[in-house]
Amino acid sequence: MVRLGNATDRDLPVQVDATGPEGISIQAGPERPADGTIPPEQRALPVLQTVAPRARVPTPGGAPGAHLRPPQPRYAPAPLALRPHAPEIEHWRDRLQRTPLLELAAAADESRRRRHPDGVVSYIVDRNINYTNLCVTDCRFCAFYRRPKDAEAYVLSYDDVVRKIAEAKALGAVQILMQGGHNPYLPLDWYLGLLRHIKEHEPIHVHGFSASEIELLVRVSRLPLDEVLRQLREAGLDSMPGAGAEILVDGVRDVIAPKKLGASRWLEIHEAAHEVGLHTTATMMYGVGETWEDRLEHLLRLRHSQARSEAAGHRGRYTAFIAWSFQPSQTEMQDWQLELGTGLDYLRLTTLGRLVLDNFDNLQVSYVTQGPKLAQIALRCGANDFGSLMLEENVVSATGIDFIMPEQELRRIIADAGFTPRRRYQDYRQVAAAESGECPCCSWRNGR
Ligand code: SF4
Repeated sequence: MVRLGNATDRDLPVQVDATGPEGISIQAGPERPADGTIPPEQRALPVLQTVAPRARVPTPGGAPGAHLRPPQPRYAPAPLALRPHAPEIEHWRDRLQRTPLLELAAAADESRRRRHPDGVVSYIVDRNINYTNLCVTDCRFCAFYRRPKDAEAYVLSYDDVVRKIAEAKALGAVQILMQGGHNPYLPLDWYLGLLRHIKEHEPIHVHGFSASEIELLVRVSRLPLDEVLRQLREAGLDSMPGAGAEILVDGVRDVIAPKKLGASRWLEIHEAAHEVGLHTTATMMYGVGETWEDRLEHLLRLRHSQARSEAAGHRGRYTAFIAWSFQPSQTEMQDWQLELGTGLDYLRLTTLGRLVLDNFDNLQVSYVTQGPKLAQIALRCGANDFGSLMLEENVVSATGIDFIMPEQELRRIIADAGFTPRRRYQDYRQVAAAESGECPCCSWRNGR
């Protein structure tokens, strides 16, 4: 019997199906030199190494909450019978308990192969732009934010943002991921002006503003949710990231982020975004003290949310699911007694992501938190996308984690796992070599 959270001997001897177009043999990628090194002139994006700041050195003190030592709140999980989708949670929990991990992985790999038979693992070249770190929401798991009077609190100017985009585009970026803290001093017009400024001066696909930022804008502007989303879209927002989901169970959220929006509201905002034509993604941050029932409830709420958007005929949908493990360093939770997610937990969640979310097309690995080796294994557990080659990342690296890598190395890791690496756009169309790099949905928006 597999015990959740720990490996047993039943995890080990099961044979994984090795058939399929890409096989599972480990081979060097086509561009890899014989000695394994990558000369600078052969790197696809050689300048990447010199762009600053790619990774942010954590400040010694960390987030404001990292100085505090409040007692760890007690979390009492809800009984199964009181949860939404209880029969499905029970089904998957039982399957997880009865099935060896590699058997689950083989089923997830087969499901991935049916949906993506070409053996391609995609990734996107983008830059994270965190327009402000000023935040009043005080999530206990966050190492990134600063309170309003903190000397390190900042808001980027429009010109700062455009300069960062110009740098990223020069390096091949086809998207920016724009997220920030909950800064109550920025009105909706600031966001609209920023989007228009970007589209006028350095047009690029803007994947921006998580559901919790949208909720802040609804409160600050006192406009209805759909009106806020419509205005953002008209100003230049192209798609919405799935951040802020953490664990979509209110009991867990009350412990780790008591001031943040609830699980139902997070889903409601994503479905409203789908209705106005925005694609979104969905995430999970696990290892914050939740149970496997909580994780399954999260996945099933996402599955049903996608089904509602599809049934309503919305133009947008969830395009991908991404899970990563909580990184406690420099956060208020760093001294809590928690069972942080193990590597095996990550692989279990990856397999469940593919099997439970059977109405999601794409499953991303999180090499930034799990490291490249585990990410390679995750590609055999249902994942088909390597996420983002980030030219700049500030949130995870604020905890001291930094697996950011040059593009050639990322491609080598994918190829060594037996897949063909391909650059993609946000909507998962692949970038052809001869293309300008302009995102198809942005060309459509621009009438080209
Ligand atoms: S996770 Fe976001 S909302 Fe929460 S404290 Fe950090 S920046 Fe603020």
